[in-house]
Amino acid sequence: MIQKIDHIGIAVKSIDEAMKIYTEILGLKVTGIETVEEQKVKTAFIPIGESEIELLESTSPDGPIAKFIEKRGEGIQHIALRVDNIEAKLKELKEKGIRLIDESPRLGAGGAKIAFIHPKDTKGVLIELCER
Ligand code: ZN
Repeated sequence: MIQKIDHIGIAVKSIDEAMKIYTEILGLKVTGIETVEEQKVKTAFIPIGESEIELLESTSPDGPIAKFIEKRGEGIQHIALRVDNIEAKLKELKEKGIRLIDESPRLGAGGAKIAFIHPKDTKGVLIELCER
């Protein structure tokens, strides 16, 4: 079951720079900064009500976030939906013929299990499934 929008991922060149918009201007708080080496990304989480904003900065010029910014500039990169059983949801999508970037879940920031659905099957929106 899909429970809520867990977070919205925003690709930025610099977390330190981008953070100021959310903290100094919007008055929100950053609760955690974490590097996920496997995905070549540094993340900062900013809770807003039941959801969060996830700022994403590449740790390497060949990482997926660096490539995204190169192609499309800074901005919204993905939307993450919280599910209660990620394996079951992936299986269900696969059976419906939806292309998956991750056939099985991998470890994301904050110890979450995550998997991405291919944007070619979601009208250009990169959707992350996430189980915590
Ligand atoms: Zn995410």
